[in-house]
Amino acid sequence: RVVVGTKVDENHANWVTAYNMLTGIRVSVSRTNAKIDRELTDADFEAKQKSTFDITGNELVPSAKYDFKFKDYAPWVFRRLRALFRLDPADYLMSLTGKYILSELGSPGKSGSFFYFSRDYKYIIKTIHHAEHKFLRKILKDYYNHVRENPNTLLSQFYGLHRVKMPYGKKIHFVVMNNLFPPHRDIHTTFDLKGSTIGRDYREENLEENPRATLKDLNWLRRKRHLELGMEKKRLFLEQLQRDVVLLKRLKIMDYSLLIGIHDLSRGNEENLRGKTLQVFNPGGEKAQDDDPHGTLLRTPSKLENARKARELRQMIRQERPIPMGQIPDTMPDELGEGDSRAGIFNQDDGGLRATHENNSPAEEIYYLGVIDCLTHYGMIKKIEHFWKGLSSDRTQISALPPDQYGDRFYNFVEGITMSPEAARREAQLRDQE
Ligand code: ATP
Ligand code: CA
Ligand code: CA
Repeated sequence: RVVVGTKVDENHANWVTAYNMLTGIRVSVSRTNAKIDRELTDADFEAKQKSTFDITGNELVPSAKYDFKFKDYAPWVFRRLRALFRLDPADYLMSLTGKYILSELGSPGKSGSFFYFSRDYKYIIKTIHHAEHKFLRKILKDYYNHVRENPNTLLSQFYGLHRVKMPYGKKIHFVVMNNLFPPHRDIHTTFDLKGSTIGRDYREENLEENPRATLKDLNWLRRKRHLELGMEKKRLFLEQLQRDVVLLKRLKIMDYSLLIGIHDLSRGNEENLRGKTLQVFNPGGEKAQDDDPHGTLLRTPSKLENARKARELRQMIRQERPIPMGQIPDTMPDELGEGDSRAGIFNQDDGGLRATHENNSPAEEIYYLGVIDCLTHYGMIKKIEHFWKGLSSDRTQISALPPDQYGDRFYNFVEGITMSPEAARREAQLRDQE
């Protein structure tokens, strides 16, 4: 679940990895940001920049707590992508750095990927398989052009592609991307929809124990849910989805899904008080001070002080000056999530889309949606299948559909669920009359 995670502090098994990831991002992103903007060249898509960190540092790489190697891929392309996605460079750096940096979601998928949230929940770091990494580099130009032509794309927004390697450790590839779900709103129900029914069921009897589990296609159908967008938003949504699926089919991508987070306005935010969340993140950590009932995450210089630091940081980026670590505020001025600054037609209502009836009157839900897990190439699935085939004769669970069929099935399913309840009722009446 998005809001509840394990705080990654010095005692956490992945502390060093997480710390190094963020140090690498901070140094490489501020290095690229510090240069004067220029047009992209073909070489930018292939580019990679390697840095070696150690405790002494040198004129190119500042000193770091631990020894590690860091690779930044296509830094100029991702700088452009961040701009196309309307991210503020200073906000990006501030979100991904600071003292209490991340919370870890463990590995929610079967893939073995790890997910980390930036401390303000705006960004997700996902470790990816080497094959996914190579694939993203291969399709980067297509992806970039697609984002340029479709600034409101529903596809995962990639903000950075990096690799970290510790002494004697494995190479860890990871992407930074958007958290589809807002920091300031409870998500009451989550669905991950592929348009397939095989194995696409979350056992609802487990919901009691795990009320925020991600539900799947069969749960959606059983609950007779509708994605109610009203006429206008529905048209925009399906048009964009169509264009996105055309790209996914052309690049032979599959296994992606539509992630839907639903905020129920009638339930509000009562379950996700920030203070509560912070306590979860401070299990046995440093003791909260008496004047700070919320725990150490909030024990920071005053808001004013942070706002000043944030202003200075913005100025440094604008003036292309190098940024010392202490310059990055421990807590951002907007850490408590006053509103959501995401721009885009699918984020127009408090960071998401307000559910809307057919007659255009608003309904009591906000949807947060996007297409995720879109780095699986058909060839990889085929290889995995082949491997399993050797082990067992039961392939039904993993039988891979070619990307064209996958995309059509996916689109048709999503189009189907956007039918309004009113239209579904009319259709049923017609059927009854026959
Ligand atoms: P698998 O390949 O087994 O499906 P994976 O490790 O590739 O798993 P994803 O499918 O990318 O993982 O994501 C797993 C879950 O993590 C999603 O169902 C969703 O709950 C959450 N998640 C992933 N990406 C995002 C995102 N951008 N915003 C919010 N939540 C996300
Ligand atoms: Ca997935
Ligand atoms: Ca996956």
